[in-house]
Parts: sequence; C-alpha cells; structure tokens
Amino acid sequence: MKYREMPHSDNRLDEFCLYCGIREPDTNDHVPSKILLDRPFPDHLHMVRSCLECNNGFSLDEQYFACLIECVICGTSDIEKLNRKRIKDILIRQPKLKARLDLAKNESNGNIFFKIEENRVNNVLVKLAKGHTKFENSQPIIEDPSSIWMKPLHMLTIEEENSFFAPLEMDKFPEVGSRALISVTEARLVNSPWITVQPNNYHYMMNFNSGTTVRIIIWEYLAVEVKWNNII
Ligand SMILES: [Zn+2]
Repeated sequence: MKYREMPHSDNRLDEFCLYCGIREPDTNDHVPSKILLDRPFPDHLHMVRSCLECNNGFSLDEQYFACLIECVICGTSDIEKLNRKRIKDILIRQPKLKARLDLAKNESNGNIFFKIEENRVNNVLVKLAKGHTKFENSQPIIEDPSSIWMKPLHMLTIEEENSFFAPLEMDKFPEVGSRALISVTEARLVNSPWITVQPNNYHYMMNFNSGTTVRIIIWEYLAVEVKWNNII
C-alpha cells in the first residue's frame, strides 16, 4: 500500500493532546518520529496533535531508542562502526547517552548484547502505536496498551512470523470517517495491510480484531506489536 496523504480525522477529536489526554495540544508531532527515518523525509509525513510537554518529553527516549537499536544492529557502541549518520551525530553530540549505551553493552561467549531500559523503549513504542491509531482510526487511545512486544525479525519463530504477517482480521469496522475505514471500503487494507512510510526504514499495519493492534517494522530489523484489547 502506498503511503497515504490526506487526513480524514474529525477535528473535534483534536481538542486534547493525544498522549496525555489532558492538556490542550499546541504542537504537531510527527508519526513516526523523524529520528526513525532518513532524509529526505517522505512528503506529507503524518502528524498528530500533542502538547509541548509530551512532545518534548518523548524526545530523549526517542533518541535513546534509535541509538540503542543502531548499536544492537551493528553489535557495537563504537561510533566509528555504526552505519547511520544521524545516529553517529547524536552520539557525538551527546556523550552522556553514548556513555549510557557503553555501560549497557555486555559480552557473553563472544556475542555482544545490550541491556535494554525497558520503560524508555516501551514509552517510544506506545507513542508510535498511539500515533498510528489516532491517524488511521481517528479515535485516540489514552489508556496504556494491554501488551507490548518486540523482537528482531530474523529471530522470529515460524509461529511468530505467521502471526506477525497474518492477513488483516477485523471483527469490527474502524471509526466512521477514519482513514482506516475509507481504506477498508476501498479494499486496500484487506489486500495489503502494510503501509510503508519509508522503504527500508519504517512500515506499519493495523488490525481491528478483538481490539486494536498496531504492528511496526523498524529499519527492517525490529518487529513490534502493541495491542489494546477491546478498548475502542
Ligand atoms: Zn500531552
């Protein structure tokens, strides 16, 4: 499916920040975060309304998350050995973050692995999923998800792979007027549920079966699933 352009959201749902659901929104937040994409960024990058406090509050965790994933992919926290220029630049500018990742690095039987700060990673994954849900289904989800799961794509078992790439299932229609509903009625979501925001960097899909599920593939490396059971 092509990355779609025009939002169809109901503006009345934008009166509150998507993330805290309390404060008035005063900024547009990109979905997904630009830090997960390469320049030049896609045209018409999706945006949701958020308050400045939430928007700023995610920035450090997003930097941490992106740098962590790059270090994991490259098996090192040595800036010279990383691939992504944006990540190298961040770690050069932020020696504290670099030191934190150095400390998180461990070696066992010749394998490098990183101790993950789960709260920070989950914070970013839920933010991404909430952003996609709001954008696709119009209706925001304020609640915490029922489950958060992630695993490198190449480590998925056959069962996990079948489940992750399963065709779209739907036991209810998306919100009236939402982008997702329009896609369903045009049969686009059913035929090809994955939406590519930027090739090689970011894909996502949504499932409306027994709740709301958002699946994301980041940098063709990380498979993510965030699920809300029957909340909306
Ligand atoms: Zn907020």
